Amino acid sequence: AITISALKEAPGENRVALSPDVVRKLVKSEYQVLIEKDAGQHAFYQDSAYTDAGAQVVDRNTAIEKASIIATIDQPGADVVDHLQAGQTLLGLLAPLTDLEFVKKLAAKKVNAMAFELLPRTVSRAQTMDVLSSQASVAGYKAALLAADKFTRYFPMMITAAGTAKPTKVLVLGTGVAGLQAIGTTKRLGAMVSGYDIRPASRGEVESLGATFLTTSVSATGEGGYARALTPEETAQQQKELAGFIAENDVIITTAQVPGRRPPLLVTQDSVDQAKPGTVFIDLAASDLGGNVAGSKADDTVVTPNGAQIIAAGDMASQLPASASDMFAKNVQAVINDVTKDGELVFDVDDEVVGELLATYQGEIISSRVRSAMK
Ligand code: NAD
Repeated sequence: AITISALKEAPGENRVALSPDVVRKLVKSEYQVLIEKDAGQHAFYQDSAYTDAGAQVVDRNTAIEKASIIATIDQPGADVVDHLQAGQTLLGLLAPLTDLEFVKKLAAKKVNAMAFELLPRTVSRAQTMDVLSSQASVAGYKAALLAADKFTRYFPMMITAAGTAKPTKVLVLGTGVAGLQAIGTTKRLGAMVSGYDIRPASRGEVESLGATFLTTSVSATGEGGYARALTPEETAQQQKELAGFIAENDVIITTAQVPGRRPPLLVTQDSVDQAKPGTVFIDLAASDLGGNVAGSKADDTVVTPNGAQIIAAGDMASQLPASASDMFAKNVQAVINDVTKDGELVFDVDDEVVGELLATYQGEIISSRVRSAMK
């Protein structure tokens, strides 16, 4: 049988790549499933839930050594990679476009690397495998709740005997999957919401949620319907025009990403300095590569001298770990089903989905996107 393993993730990562529900389905389809002891702990998926679903709960080394495919949320550490054998497959968010050394190491070990970041997202067959979308959706929801929690006023309009409270004004910068979910969630909490994106095509989606769509004189759609990186002149123009919108809002949730690049800076230091006291910035794009908000610090909250909070929220999906893991696991299951033919793993490198998902195969870096990132 094909053996699928899920490991306990690094500290700070609360998600797990397989859920008991998906394990049950895999076992029913005659896969063998190994779960590292305590792998689901932070999502409150106990070992017993996995054994009930038909998995074997094992120690870390067994889960690594016996696996045909190891499903992980994030890039695993050296303790895992050093144990991998030629012909094994790693499936997860492997950061192949930003951590090229990691990809080279897997290729050298002849480990096949399937990186969700490389999934061709507009191919309809790939939608059930789309981890970037499923996790962005969770992140957008959780970011909206975090904003409501950290802001010092009600989100909805409140009419009470003690007076009337005005609704909070929320601005969402970047209205892709995460941004739209943040809009929907803040709307449901009663805020007055507007959204902005560099892709004019997102207007309809924002307006269908009952929010106002804002535009600047800069617009840009690149490959595959994604935003492209802006020129320095376009960036400056965009930042200038956004400054006015930012100053008028109470809560700013930023989600802008350009695949494989440093996230664009949308909120400059000047915009932060001119924000109203009490303004909450939630920067979903924040990572070690930087974020959308000047001064945002990965995994940290910065309180500015004029009383704004900048919350780096790059790990929002991990903060709703059970829902995020459920969806992630479904995406994993879809990939596994897709590469199984008559009870064997078959990686068709010419396939428009599988071929793209593979960063490395049989010792070669076969992804053209990874190869061009290396230049
Ligand atoms: P993302 O996470 O890569 O980026 C988030 C948003 O930031 C995007 O909407 C992007 O346009 C925006 N952005 C980038 N640079 C910006 C800038 N300088 N200023 C303002 N906004 C900026 O994107 P995503 O959420 O993964 O989705 C991107 C696109 O892909 C969307 O059109 C989405 O609907 C589409 N998508 C399609 C499918 C599908 O067809 N199956 C699946 C998922 C996503």
